[in-house]
Amino acid sequence: MKKILILTAGFGGGHNAAAQNLREALELVSEEVKVEVLDLFESSYGSINTIAQNAYQGMVQYVPRIWGGLYSLLDNSSFIENRLTSFTRLKDALSDILHETQPDCVVSTYPVYAHIIQEIYRDHAERPFAFVTIVTDSITVNSSWFRAPSDFYSVSNEATANVLKAAGVPGDQIKVLGFPVSHRFGQAPMETLQPPVFGQPRKILYVINTGKKKSGKVIDHLLEIPDVVLTVTVGRDAELKTKLTERTRGLADRVRVLGWTNQMPELMMSHHLVIGKAGAALVQEAIAARCPMIVNQVIPGQEEGNARLITEFGLGAVAERNREVPELVAEAFEHKAKIWLEWRRNLARMSRPDAAVRLAELVLEKCEAPDPTRKSIPLFSQVPIRPSVTTAADHAVTEPRMLLCDFHIHTNYSDGKLSVPEVVDFYGRLGFDCICITDHLADPRRLIGKLARLSSMTVSESQLEEYFKVIERERWRALRKYNMLVLTGMEFNKDGYTQKSSAHLLGIDLKAPIDSALDLPETIAQIHAQGGLAVASHPHIMKSEWGKNTLHLWENQEKFAPLIDAWEIANRNNIFDCVGMKGLPFLANSDFHKPKHIYSWKTLLYCEKSPEAIKQCIRRNEHVSITLYRKDRGSAAAIVPRAAVAEPQPAIAYFPPRPLEVAHS
Ligand code: ZN
Ligand code: ZN
Repeated sequence: MKKILILTAGFGGGHNAAAQNLREALELVSEEVKVEVLDLFESSYGSINTIAQNAYQGMVQYVPRIWGGLYSLLDNSSFIENRLTSFTRLKDALSDILHETQPDCVVSTYPVYAHIIQEIYRDHAERPFAFVTIVTDSITVNSSWFRAPSDFYSVSNEATANVLKAAGVPGDQIKVLGFPVSHRFGQAPMETLQPPVFGQPRKILYVINTGKKKSGKVIDHLLEIPDVVLTVTVGRDAELKTKLTERTRGLADRVRVLGWTNQMPELMMSHHLVIGKAGAALVQEAIAARCPMIVNQVIPGQEEGNARLITEFGLGAVAERNREVPELVAEAFEHKAKIWLEWRRNLARMSRPDAAVRLAELVLEKCEAPDPTRKSIPLFSQVPIRPSVTTAADHAVTEPRMLLCDFHIHTNYSDGKLSVPEVVDFYGRLGFDCICITDHLADPRRLIGKLARLSSMTVSESQLEEYFKVIERERWRALRKYNMLVLTGMEFNKDGYTQKSSAHLLGIDLKAPIDSALDLPETIAQIHAQGGLAVASHPHIMKSEWGKNTLHLWENQEKFAPLIDAWEIANRNNIFDCVGMKGLPFLANSDFHKPKHIYSWKTLLYCEKSPEAIKQCIRRNEHVSITLYRKDRGSAAAIVPRAAVAEPQPAIAYFPPRPLEVAHS
């Protein structure tokens, strides 16, 4: 179940429409989603109470003080003068809500929230959820929308995208999806409207929400145009509805007056023109429905951008005064509806009626996969952990503890049996703290590399990007689901004709692919440049495995020992005493290819649970132990089929020959 929090503000500008439409689309696209729309600026006592009662009902119990805090904020009438205090209160309220609800993704349709969130997570390695901004402005885009970071910005059109690009927002963070209008625009079949040429009815939709006094006259003038058929919507104004119905009595075949309607998508798609004010929602709905628009009012400072969208892209016209409206309508249909047809063509190019659904899909994707360019895994202490995964005591763990690790694991990207998600679930359920996935990458210059390339034994160059992406996605899932760190690695296979010219090198915690054709020192340098560890895998003679020995690194210790961060002292069932004897920094790994390989040598680290602390612990090689992980009658046996399990053996531990410091007295 994904939890998505949509933050909005009822200040007009389409914020609420975008929020509600996205919520509906998310619920349409996925059944595994829980969406809540929150307006922290909402000042009505009643509705906050409702939000408090309904928010994540049955899922999270809100702390009453959140709402107490909000009330005092909202009671503060001098909001503007006391902006700083108010901002702090808003920040505290949102911080509490985020802590209580622990959403997978937060979506904002109002720019202030991004700044508050940036402030809340200022001192953290990263925020523990994906964050998406829906820019509801068009063309005239306030810079507050993008001055604070988001994982991506959903914008309505290319023009808005260009404003963001010009301001330095990276192109890949800008998604031109269209404004998230109701998903019903994308689902209702586009009615094939006849061009309103002579003799055909010209169907006009008049949406009245302002300028009510003059609306009667506008209707009179519109009806002077031949063949005009009018649908008028007045919203919840019953008085106006009665008045206009009276006024048009006797014209029932040409005028229909509707009150509040939930049929706006259908109405827009079945009318030739819509008349209304330049509110973001209405303008964007008209665009989605490919219904040319005559704007009859523009609220200064709020709606100019929407009006410009209509005029600059030729999607309709803007009337300076209400009485110009009938003239503009008449002109649109002159000369075989020349202007109208042009508007329709332009609209067809811009219309994105499925924007909400597309956005919902992207938001769900973000819940799974955070942006790979984000900083590394957050420190354990900074990740709010789900109570279902760990005990409450884990919340407080900021100190070092014993971590069970495996840094040498193959998946079906090379010659392993399990997929990356299967490996994550397998190790996650066993309670591992940190794993590194290290599929084979063969050197194309080496003979075996050439052969391997033909088989599916190694990751192909064309799959490398995907490999990094998939592990990045799984890294996030593993952390949330199992509180397990997943690192991306590679096993660089430098196989020669002899065992003395062959070497396997692990790169641990890589950020990007490394050229498979580099020689060993260059490869190590590249690994280090990425902040990763270079580890010699199975560096000595293996007794129990069929695989060819790889002794090059061992044979050239004087050259490689200063470069290499650690040597495998044990690989699966093999143990290389010589690594311990020489006092080299060490690790022990499964070289996992299939489930039964889990019963093998492992590394235990005593350090903080973060990638940096783990790497530092290995480099320094203090508080590093190894353990022979063997069948346990409990959980492990339940996961691995009995037949696949090696015979039980007593567990022993190998301790390094160097003096062990007494850790953390
Ligand atoms: Zn190997
Ligand atoms: Zn291997």
